Amino acid sequence: MKQALVEIDGDEMTRVLWELVKNELITPFVELKTEYYDLSLKNRDATDDAVTADSAYAIKRLGVGVKCATITSNEARRIEYNLKALYPSPNATIRTILDGTVFRKPITVSSIKPSISSWKAPLIIGRHAYGDVYKNAEMVIPGPGKVELVYTDNTGNEKRTLVAQMPGAGVVQGIHNLDESIKNFARSCFLYALQEKIPVWFATKDTISKIYDGKFKELFNHIYETEFKELFQKAGITYFYTLIDDAVARVVKGEGGFLWACKNYDGDVMSDMIASACGSLAMMTSVLVSPSGVFEYEAAHGTVQQHYYRWQKGEKTSTNPVALIFAWTGALAKRAELDNLPALSAFVQRLEKAALQTIEEGNMTGDLARLARTKPVRILDSWEFVAAVAQKLS
Ligand code: NAP
Ligand code: MG
Repeated sequence: MKQALVEIDGDEMTRVLWELVKNELITPFVELKTEYYDLSLKNRDATDDAVTADSAYAIKRLGVGVKCATITSNEARRIEYNLKALYPSPNATIRTILDGTVFRKPITVSSIKPSISSWKAPLIIGRHAYGDVYKNAEMVIPGPGKVELVYTDNTGNEKRTLVAQMPGAGVVQGIHNLDESIKNFARSCFLYALQEKIPVWFATKDTISKIYDGKFKELFNHIYETEFKELFQKAGITYFYTLIDDAVARVVKGEGGFLWACKNYDGDVMSDMIASACGSLAMMTSVLVSPSGVFEYEAAHGTVQQHYYRWQKGEKTSTNPVALIFAWTGALAKRAELDNLPALSAFVQRLEKAALQTIEEGNMTGDLARLARTKPVRILDSWEFVAAVAQKLS
């Protein structure tokens, strides 16, 4: 490697697998250069969460990062880890700093067929990574009263609108987004689709949310008409807008093979649905593409908490490390592309192939064994699986 990439360590079972994957599949083969950030909940607490923003700015500086899954703290975690405070989701903090769109694509192997039999090609999710409910303000309303939205411009002029005349106690939430971020979201999706030569679908609930979702629809359409329409026609691909509920129905009946641009929350939920329908949350790649031209690779799943507790008791769990392996290969491939390192590109392809071949030959973790069409299948624990991939790679 010429330039370092940003390595962001995390929590629980994925932290255990992170070290395993790195030691067995990366460092024996690559002269690895990383700038390391420890985003374990313990270290975020020790640094008052400063380490999280530091890691995001490091990605901005170096251009490429790879991130392990991290715990999003809540009340139960505050007690479990004796935290000083509750911190925002590290992914939300990083995505707010980098802006951009998260692309999630199923990792497919021939022996595992999606549960939805009409799907012939991977369905890719492009998830807007800024704002909405992930950057909200919430309030408990203790009793009857008036709730309003108030905007004060820089000269002090106010604009207000009634949210609700509350007859009793309840809750309220304020969310926002930015025109610039929505336009960049649209551009990232259209560019990705051009690169992959696949159609783009976008959906919101603009019949109900006429101003908020209406703005998403309007800006997407504007960017398409003014910047991409001709390019799409030349490439023979299309842009399709519909309502979110209609999109969900069409996705389930369709053949896949397109990019589904989703608002932040829709993308969160739908990517888990699609990953599960394709086999496992661990069979999906995830990359954040920032409009500033930087890339962050991660696994789409969480820290696999229940497996971690079993591992702590001495059990060798059969946790699937494929998404973590592909997070590393994604980041290394991008570094290879940016720094012109053909040997590193070649290594990445061999490692991905070794992982997929291992599964296709019937050696896999428990989550996949349930779905495999070809038998016999050997269920391996994570350590045996990584060893099998390493052996094939060697
Ligand atoms: P999770 O870690 O994704 O795990 C949910 C379930 O999915 C697991 O119990 C397991 O099912 C299955 N699973 C996920 N990844 C797997 C893998 N690699 N191999 C095999 N099975 C896998 O979600 P969670 O338990 O709801 O969340 C745990 C923690 O992760 C939370 O603290 C949350 O805040 C955090 N989280 C982080 C991220 C991130 O950093 N990107 C994303 C989501 C959640 P079985 O138990 O049936 O085996
Ligand atoms: Mg999610």
